[in-house]
Amino acid sequence: MRIAMIGTGYVGLVSGLCFSDFGHEVVCVDKHEGKIAGLRDGRIPIYEPGLDALLARNVAEGRLSFTTDLHEAVTGADAVFIAVGTPSRRGDGHADLSYVYAAAKEIALAATAPTVVVTKSTVPVGTNREVARILRETRPDLTFAVASNPEFLREGAAIEDFMKPDRVVVGLDGNGDHARTVMADIYKPLFLRDFPIVYTDLESAEMIKYAANAFLAAKITFINEVAALCEKVGADVKAVSKGIGLDGRIGAKFLHAGPGYGGSCFPKDTNAFAQTGQDYGVPLRLTEAVIEVNEAVKTRMVDKILALAEGSLRGKTVAVLGVTFKPNTDDMREAPSLTIIPALQKAGATVRAVDPQGRREGEHLLPGVEWADDPYTAAQGAHLVTVLTEWNQFRALDLRRLAGAMAEPRMADLRNVYGAEEARAAGFTAYDSVGRQGFG
Ligand code: NAD
Repeated sequence: MRIAMIGTGYVGLVSGLCFSDFGHEVVCVDKHEGKIAGLRDGRIPIYEPGLDALLARNVAEGRLSFTTDLHEAVTGADAVFIAVGTPSRRGDGHADLSYVYAAAKEIALAATAPTVVVTKSTVPVGTNREVARILRETRPDLTFAVASNPEFLREGAAIEDFMKPDRVVVGLDGNGDHARTVMADIYKPLFLRDFPIVYTDLESAEMIKYAANAFLAAKITFINEVAALCEKVGADVKAVSKGIGLDGRIGAKFLHAGPGYGGSCFPKDTNAFAQTGQDYGVPLRLTEAVIEVNEAVKTRMVDKILALAEGSLRGKTVAVLGVTFKPNTDDMREAPSLTIIPALQKAGATVRAVDPQGRREGEHLLPGVEWADDPYTAAQGAHLVTVLTEWNQFRALDLRRLAGAMAEPRMADLRNVYGAEEARAAGFTAYDSVGRQGFG
């Protein structure tokens, strides 16, 4: 199979590299010249464990190449994947589909033979039919088949998720037999492990992606609300999560209380899903509430930190451990840190942050933040330390050393990594976490 992958962001790059590792011939395209030049030199533009080895192997074996020339990539391809961004449109929360439609038009102009065009980007219901219309309108002389193949990988574990997916979803239109065969051939290497492939229509495939993300965002938000109540009634949200998560109907994943969901998917996808509901006159009230509650969760975290600092952060230094939206990624899009840190600065605090991979983006997005190389340096002379992202590097800290470095040893552990007794024993004078009892 010859595959062209349009867009080499988190999804396009991982998908392109994994498809080439399956044995397909893959050409990855991006408009960003620096990205393509770097990839040609073997440099991965994002932090994602394992990608560098995959890149080196598949380039060396001659199956993988990179170009800025979409025309060259599309010529002779059996399938062209669209994996460009679909960010929130400024102002109304709808998905901005301009990159998808522009890519569709470029593909149509470049195609020289009947081609299967597959949308991997997360797109609202109706988008694939519009892609099909654009292809037809631009090149009435060619036949295109359109497929929807939403991606479910998680940043930080992207290769594992791509290679061992819970399922692959393929949406086809009414007469999509050729597209179905091409998609089956592309994913055939996965058949060795018996994994489910869900063939459906275009609209259902589009809905599956949004419904999945809205459900997961709701699950996180549910436990975050339960956590707030746990604090008031004297319960421990970790025990509650465990107690409900062991019920097979509920499941243990996505039940960790914390500072609210963030990242490049949940915020924009819940917004776009809610907007689709409004557009069709079927308000998705649960999803709308999830969006609202998640914002309130972030504010609650700021209030927690303020309370721990006895109501004032003026002239104080706060050490922030972790700024990315989750560990093992450098992605800062919609990270809770982008709300929480500016709020701390507004309250008069100097923020000193440390993050294994987030600094480069963080330096642009978080003006006024001082950066440290390790947690102990960040905490030196600080009046409060807060764990915002549970990187492995922050999970087994020498708490005694950390407390000893601080001017006032107070900790806001917003990922529930440590515990009140542990913090007290290490010399902290105040400790708070999410959904559990603190002190000080
Ligand atoms: P991204 O912003 O990291 O990357 C998009 C890339 O596409 C950029 O490098 C951009 O330069 C390139 N691009 C845009 N238009 C182009 C064109 N016409 N030709 C060539 N290149 C072009 O985006 P991402 O995080 O990889 O997300 C892509 C899609 O996948 C989105 O719809 C997203 O919702 C979805 N998705 C993302 C994740 C994730 O974890 N990031 C997971 C599942 C699904």
